[in-house]
Amino acid sequence: MNEAENQNLKRSPIVVVVGHVDHGKTSLLDYIRKTNVVAKEAGAITQSIGAYEITHNGQRITFIDTPGHEAFSKMRERGAKVADVAILVVAGDESVKPQTQEAIRVLLNSKTPFAVAITKMDKPNVDLERVKKDLSANNVFLEGYGGNVSFQDVSAKTGEGINELLDLILLTSEMEDLTYSPEAPATGFILESELDSRRGITVSLVLKNGQLKAGDGIATASAKGKIKILENFLGERVKELIPSSPATVLGFEALPQLGEEFIAGKLSEADLEKVQKSAAFQKKISAGKKEVSDIRVLLKADVAGSLEALSGLVQKIPLKEGQKLEIVNQGVGEITDSDVKEAAVTEAVIIGFRTYPNKAAETLAKAQNVTIVTNEIIYKLVEEIEKTLAEVFTKKVILSELETLAVFSSQGKKQTVGGKVISGAIKNKAKLEIKRGEKSAGQARVLELQQNKKVVNVVNAGNECGLQVETDVKIEIGDILRVIG
Ligand code: GDP
Repeated sequence: MNEAENQNLKRSPIVVVVGHVDHGKTSLLDYIRKTNVVAKEAGAITQSIGAYEITHNGQRITFIDTPGHEAFSKMRERGAKVADVAILVVAGDESVKPQTQEAIRVLLNSKTPFAVAITKMDKPNVDLERVKKDLSANNVFLEGYGGNVSFQDVSAKTGEGINELLDLILLTSEMEDLTYSPEAPATGFILESELDSRRGITVSLVLKNGQLKAGDGIATASAKGKIKILENFLGERVKELIPSSPATVLGFEALPQLGEEFIAGKLSEADLEKVQKSAAFQKKISAGKKEVSDIRVLLKADVAGSLEALSGLVQKIPLKEGQKLEIVNQGVGEITDSDVKEAAVTEAVIIGFRTYPNKAAETLAKAQNVTIVTNEIIYKLVEEIEKTLAEVFTKKVILSELETLAVFSSQGKKQTVGGKVISGAIKNKAKLEIKRGEKSAGQARVLELQQNKKVVNVVNAGNECGLQVETDVKIEIGDILRVIG
């Protein structure tokens, strides 16, 4: 290792804002962006790329500006943290609510350092004592209240306390010793990815280590490409960026998944493929897989009353033994693309009662394979939810998969292929779904299984095998054969 590789430089913090719905996360992020990105520059921000950068007292801070969502979900996974520091938002008039408690649980479990922002201080019915008491009851002990969690009263309406909150963020991150190595491969996380009708595949990401350079190769577990155009968060074309910058990258060959880790550098096509297949990346994917028995839903309704009804109803859905149902989020209003993003990351089904997805949400749901169930009539919705959850659940429990590594011969409907079982076990006579990318290419049935040139009845995960299958589809290298029965 040369000297440069050892050299650790200071990097600025990446901050995520979490808390209960309507407690002021978006307003706080908007206020910080408007007042801290230099006016001329702020005007250049035409579209959010999932993150922005400010300078406070001469120091940079990156904010993930889709409150909670992807970045937060990632915190649940060990070792894969988008954000360095979090702001836990609690509205001064409403105090701790269910999603505040969920946020606290994740922050404490993932040992993410955080500061508390008590919001809406301009409102007349604020009760600070209650907030502090409720936080203590939930294991968040504020400074002066038996603990060392710093807090600040703020108002996104008047701006009161926000400078002090930014001071606190810098203080909190000082203690984290955030560094990067300029010679290391560039790594970080995907924040947004979309197919822009004008520019093609457009990917926003945030850089955590190394240096991101135009012209370099880039890969995530699900997509790769070459950085043809690199832009900073203001949409200005740049040649390189250092951590913890947000960036937009053009040049991916496919849409990477939200929240995925990327690696970039002077990497050839073959290197990129190796990186994608590397144990580290694959492990991260499987670490991200949720318990198969967990069913997750994201609830939306037209008004608070319907939402309450929907939530009550969903919690009464009969579950199979060992199954758990988790409401990942709920809210009032139409189903938006940020709901879809959250559902994609948490692998949740979106349920809408008397509300529907807007155009952007619909398009994204198709691209990200997110299921949305909606209805105006409650009993019909119940039927649909049960049916959909049963389907999604069946899909989830059957996770035995084989990756096709070689295609040997085909004769009529019979084909001989080779592959590696990546999860579960493949049995003789099993019925398979042929997955090509995100889509199904058709079905197949196993006629014979061979391991080490011997005919066997079952091959377990981690082993390579040969299979003769019957199918109408021409199987290709890279296809995933998933057991469905
Ligand atoms: P989020 O769901 O946590 O992102 O919450 P929003 O930022 O969308 O805020 C929810 C509602 O509270 C909106 O109507 C905001 O205008 C309002 N709000 C947010 N912050 C403040 C504040 O500091 N003072 C007052 N009076 N209202 C606020």
